[in-house]
Amino acid sequence: MLHNLSTDDLRALDAAHHLHPFTDHGALTLSERRVIARADGVWLWDSEGNRILDGMAGLWCVNVGHGRNEIVEAVRAQMSELAYYNTFFKTTHEPVIRLSQMVAEIAPEGMNMVFFGSSGSDANDTILRMVRTYWDLMGKPHKKTVIARHNAYHGSTMGAASLGGMTAMHSQGGLPIPGIVHVDQPYWFGSGQDMDPDQFGRHAARALENAIDAIGEEHVAAFIAEPIQGAGGVIIPPETYWPEVKRILKERDILFICDEVICGFGRTGEWFGCQTYGLDPDFMTIAKGLSSGYLPIGGVVVSDKVAKVFHERGGEFYHGYTYSGHPACCAAAIANLEIIRREKLVERVRTDIGPYLAERWLALGEHPLVGEARMKGLLGALELVPDKSDTTKRFSPVGSVGTLARDFSFANGLVMRAVRDSLILSPPLTLSHEEADELIALTHKTLDDTWAELKRQGRLG
Ligand SMILES: *Cc1c(COP(=O)(O)O)cnc(C)c1O
Repeated sequence: MLHNLSTDDLRALDAAHHLHPFTDHGALTLSERRVIARADGVWLWDSEGNRILDGMAGLWCVNVGHGRNEIVEAVRAQMSELAYYNTFFKTTHEPVIRLSQMVAEIAPEGMNMVFFGSSGSDANDTILRMVRTYWDLMGKPHKKTVIARHNAYHGSTMGAASLGGMTAMHSQGGLPIPGIVHVDQPYWFGSGQDMDPDQFGRHAARALENAIDAIGEEHVAAFIAEPIQGAGGVIIPPETYWPEVKRILKERDILFICDEVICGFGRTGEWFGCQTYGLDPDFMTIAKGLSSGYLPIGGVVVSDKVAKVFHERGGEFYHGYTYSGHPACCAAAIANLEIIRREKLVERVRTDIGPYLAERWLALGEHPLVGEARMKGLLGALELVPDKSDTTKRFSPVGSVGTLARDFSFANGLVMRAVRDSLILSPPLTLSHEEADELIALTHKTLDDTWAELKRQGRLG
């Protein structure tokens, strides 16, 4: 162990000094703290030597898998040459130039400029300022309202959490900030089962249309959405949803912000989720898979249409971060994108591991505990229900069974995440067929364990 500290020592020091994100500290016991010691490929090892399959790719980000020395070497070389310099005052450097060009190359046509930050959250805050400034520059300063969706996740800063639609987050810190309106999400399993999915997809899209009409198009700046909601529970919209949203956006003069923090960099089988769904964003939020989490970096990909207005009428945009375009982070991202390209990981998700895993994952839908199994690319969810004959029924309290199943999964050697009473999956894009088989077997065991425990507690049927 590092500095010869035992696992118990580490847990005690963690409890004494470390505030964890998204954690109820009062409820977090010592023994629940798992110390992750190292990782390689899709595997994690904890400080007690247990091997765990990383079904969440860290936190939806380690697209190329753990332990890539090539990225480590690229960062080491960059740091010994130029570890840090800013990009504020008419300065630039090679890593940020090369990364900008690479991102423009893989981005959809007509998106060629990139603004960098350190995370998805700060990128969404940047976008919020950019869209409002854009309309000021266009001589339409009353266009300020941004429409977002309930149960969306766009990050944890004041702006990003306001754009997000998480009620628990809004209840802390006086959110949302003014000028943000939330509309319904396309969550068929959660709230649309009285319609068929296609009908519900169109219905959910029209929530956007109704909101624009109610607010007045002349007051609406933009609509922000994830192609597939990640943290909200891997909500894969019905096939009719995005075409209808596209129609609504086309008929109206508002900007579209596509939050690609999870869907970007291959996760849905294209470089970006907007390509999977044929969308034309004015802004893309990027982070996570941009560097596969090796170093923190995020950014905003800006369309030519928007960039032109900033160039021609902008003057100075009073916005930037000390670490915008950080050289070492850019070097990590470049090496990461080179791996994705060379190993054809995007195609691999679309034509190989994606279909292979999906076939087996969807078959888990037969399990008596599963009300719906869904997967797109390498994003999956299993909805757990008390009574398979009526999938509108929920466990009470909501969330208790998801957490139970998640804990069984971890104990069985597979990291999945629980959202409400669903299990969520987002493995590295490098997952092999053998590892996929193991993942499915572990998930099966987890469902059986959860089923047996619920039966024991008399909570089924
Ligand atoms: C994770 C996430 C963010 C926030 O990114 P951070 O790097 O954690 O700030 C934003 N949008 C989406 C869709 C995300 O999943």
